[in-house]
Amino acid sequence: MSATDAALGVDPTEDTLRRLREAFAAGRTRPVEFRTAQLQGLSRFFQDNKQRLQDALAKDVGKSAFESDTSEIILCQNEVDLALKSLQTWMKDESVSTNLLTKLSSAFIRKEPFGVVLIIAPWNYPLNLLIMPLVGAIAAGNCVVMKPSEISKNTEKVLAELLPQYLDQSCFAVVLGGPEETGQLLKHKFDYIFFTGSPRVGKIVMTAAAKHLTPITLELGGKNPCYVDDDCDPQTVANRVAWFRYFNAGQTCVAPDYILCSQEMQERLVPALQNAITRFYGDDPQTSPSLGRIINQKHFKRLQGLLGCGRVVIGGQSDEGARYIAPTVLADVQDSEPVMQEEIFGPILPLVTVKSLDEAINFINQREKPLALYAFSNNSQVVNQMLERTSSGGFGGNDGFLYLTLPSMPLGGVGNSGMGRYHGKFSFDTFSHQRACLLRSPGMEKLNDLRYPPHGPWNQQFISWVMGSQSCTLL
Ligand code: NAD
Repeated sequence: MSATDAALGVDPTEDTLRRLREAFAAGRTRPVEFRTAQLQGLSRFFQDNKQRLQDALAKDVGKSAFESDTSEIILCQNEVDLALKSLQTWMKDESVSTNLLTKLSSAFIRKEPFGVVLIIAPWNYPLNLLIMPLVGAIAAGNCVVMKPSEISKNTEKVLAELLPQYLDQSCFAVVLGGPEETGQLLKHKFDYIFFTGSPRVGKIVMTAAAKHLTPITLELGGKNPCYVDDDCDPQTVANRVAWFRYFNAGQTCVAPDYILCSQEMQERLVPALQNAITRFYGDDPQTSPSLGRIINQKHFKRLQGLLGCGRVVIGGQSDEGARYIAPTVLADVQDSEPVMQEEIFGPILPLVTVKSLDEAINFINQREKPLALYAFSNNSQVVNQMLERTSSGGFGGNDGFLYLTLPSMPLGGVGNSGMGRYHGKFSFDTFSHQRACLLRSPGMEKLNDLRYPPHGPWNQQFISWVMGSQSCTLL
């Protein structure tokens, strides 16, 4: 909302919301043909604007074309293609079994759109994290208000300018703004809110949603542990960990936030990590086109403050003007240090030493449930123990966030890292209300007589029998 609007007491989103509500009420988004056309529009959006999107992502976080393609554009295009291919199947009513009492009825689950939904996205994958949920919301037949992050301002601009040209504007709108405007937006009643961002803002969104009893998905962040067993090949671990820690300059919600390993493994990992970093980014990573930049000065300063923790064994350099922080490894980090108190969200990797697998598991379980957890070991029992005895949104054994590339897997947190899930069919389900439907015949009333009072011993016995052992609740 502009200062003038605020002074006049005008809320410009009122009109937008009215337009979307009217379109939804008129049933505009429900036909499969409409949903298909919008998804095809999204597909064209990517085909026509790939270069502009890559440029915007490069300006925002210095994303290389490889990173833009693999983590944003291709994933979104695949998601659109999958939705187009699966839409008819996803939308089908799901027949369910009946009991004797309802034998002659039609029982099914209808996947019904919620209505007007709000999607709020963060800045770190500003395209992916807005479009992936949007695909599910469109497929499920909703109208959508999209609120991209104001911090990734170049991508925000491209989205605001171009995306509406590819979608039906009576049903889809991009609304811009920061915390204040989003706070205003959240005062309105939506039928569903899908939020990706920090746990701090997640609480604000949940409080606002509670006022209207609006259902929500919260895709949040936190500190993702990565356990490395003593029997691992340090170079293999270092390659995989360095790749997914420094991808997008470490500004990835599912990146490993810190490593838990023995003192001996720490000593073997440091030179291996140095090898990997040099191989990926050269002797002077600041000149590497493959390494991203920190999103803004505020985050740069925050990260610079964390470089004083533990012992800098790799990197540690920074350049404020270029918002550059070198790929950094900190050894012998103590649990009490600032770098272990907050989600790092930057190219800094602390190594915390533990004496055993049990100690690592206790360390993890004493903290909030993470969005992702990783375990490296040549021994599958070690990986399995980590999986069995901990909880997290997602889990990777012997590799990083590759599981995100599979639409057959849900992306979502648990506890402090969020609630709900999406990607592929999970997105469609997230944005659909599963409506329980039982269609009975208006005739055959005689058969119903038995359930009406007064209840004598015979009809009571009979009704108990027809309900039988099958789980069924009458009324
Ligand atoms: P953020 O929570 O600061 O902002 C997210 C969105 O909320 C933005 O659109 C922003 O405009 C809006 N917002 C900010 N303050 C607000 C307020 N007071 N009231 C209402 N809306 C407000 O998050 P961010 O800094 O953009 O992103 C980083 C965080 O997101 C990290 O914690 C990261 O782990 C998390 N994240 C999670 C996932 C996931 O899939 N779970 C993915 C990416 C990022």
